[in-house]
Amino acid sequence: MRVWQVLSIVLVTSMDGATSIYEGLRGHQVWSVNGDTDGLVSQLRLRGMVDVLHHSGPTQKLRVSPEFASDVLANFQDAGLEYHAVIGDLAAFLQEEENRDRSVRRESEDSCTAHRCSAPLHAQYMTFEQMEWYLKQVNETSPSKISVSSIGRSVLGRDLWLAHLKATNSTGRSVWIEAGIHAREWISSAVALHIIHKLLYDDSVMADVDVYVVPMANPDGYVYTWTNDRLWRKNRRPVANSSCDGVDLNRNWDDHFGVGASSHACSEIYDGLFAFSEPETQALRDAMQKEKDNLILVLSLHSFGQTLLYPWGWSATKEAPGTLQLIAVGKIFVEAIRAATGRHYSVKNSARDLYVASGTTDDWAMAVLGTKYVYTVELRDQGFTGFLLPAAEIVPCSVEVWHGLQEVIKHIIKEETTSL
Ligand SMILES: [Zn+2]
Repeated sequence: MRVWQVLSIVLVTSMDGATSIYEGLRGHQVWSVNGDTDGLVSQLRLRGMVDVLHHSGPTQKLRVSPEFASDVLANFQDAGLEYHAVIGDLAAFLQEEENRDRSVRRESEDSCTAHRCSAPLHAQYMTFEQMEWYLKQVNETSPSKISVSSIGRSVLGRDLWLAHLKATNSTGRSVWIEAGIHAREWISSAVALHIIHKLLYDDSVMADVDVYVVPMANPDGYVYTWTNDRLWRKNRRPVANSSCDGVDLNRNWDDHFGVGASSHACSEIYDGLFAFSEPETQALRDAMQKEKDNLILVLSLHSFGQTLLYPWGWSATKEAPGTLQLIAVGKIFVEAIRAATGRHYSVKNSARDLYVASGTTDDWAMAVLGTKYVYTVELRDQGFTGFLLPAAEIVPCSVEVWHGLQEVIKHIIKEETTSL
């Protein structure tokens, strides 16, 4: 039985004990919906009335706030849609998760402090401050291998850190890895930090390329997921004349802006007033543009779904240049993952196989920078725990991405060398 279902039984009746950090989700429910052939859920999502947590085949899981529950219900009943609540109260659900996590936590709470943080944590997710402490420490202790710099500041003034892992045998090629652009996708930043750590001590093929990693592209949103709303996705931009905050940073890039996004501020996929309206996407854009001529691969890490998505996201009918090669290299990535941990990932087209999404990092990198290999990587899992992936999966998930990354880079370098 899936976790969502198990917890629904327990938690629909368990309303006690939630701490204040989950109060923002008090009364929010998760509904499972079947048979939406007319795209009613997409329409409700664009209007900011539901948050699509997961969809797999004909079944979708949605977060519905108490504010909109009766309207959404009426819409479903009018359309004759089959639905049921799988989680009755998200605040209680998250408290249960935290209690369970705490009971199995093996690492000491103070193993990463402002005075000592020599490695990313293995058994728990790191706070934004802990991420900063780790980056600061490695920057000071390994200056020949890594250079950490701030490429800009978020809406609320937090630094956007870029880690440059220096090639030992530079070939003028570089790789870009972005993580954490969606606040609730904690595993993406955890994996990015472990990749940084691996790169510091590895002498493999990765030593031939410069690797740039932005482990936390949306620090304000991430901090908010620790303090107010574990399922927050966007940044923390206040929106004028709206009761809702936040811009979806992965809809804010300047490539077919607005085609597959929402102009409604309350939507989880609100794209902002104009392309690159946000300081976070501006900083990422400017830093990536400096590496424009060297980039051989761009990965945007997300969760969840165990899928490698290739462009375009903005159109389900237009084919991206080099699609066959994108698929072939994607398959190298997923085969390396299978060999490393046995996990099954698949290679899919963003728009056709998932949903149309415009203004994304990967579409922009391909369309504007001209990077040949760009992917959005949906990490673990396949919906069993979704955004609430247990911390015990940080290490195996990092291991599989590390193997996938190595094999793909080997292949791209070989391809470039043989075509010279
Ligand atoms: Zn995401």
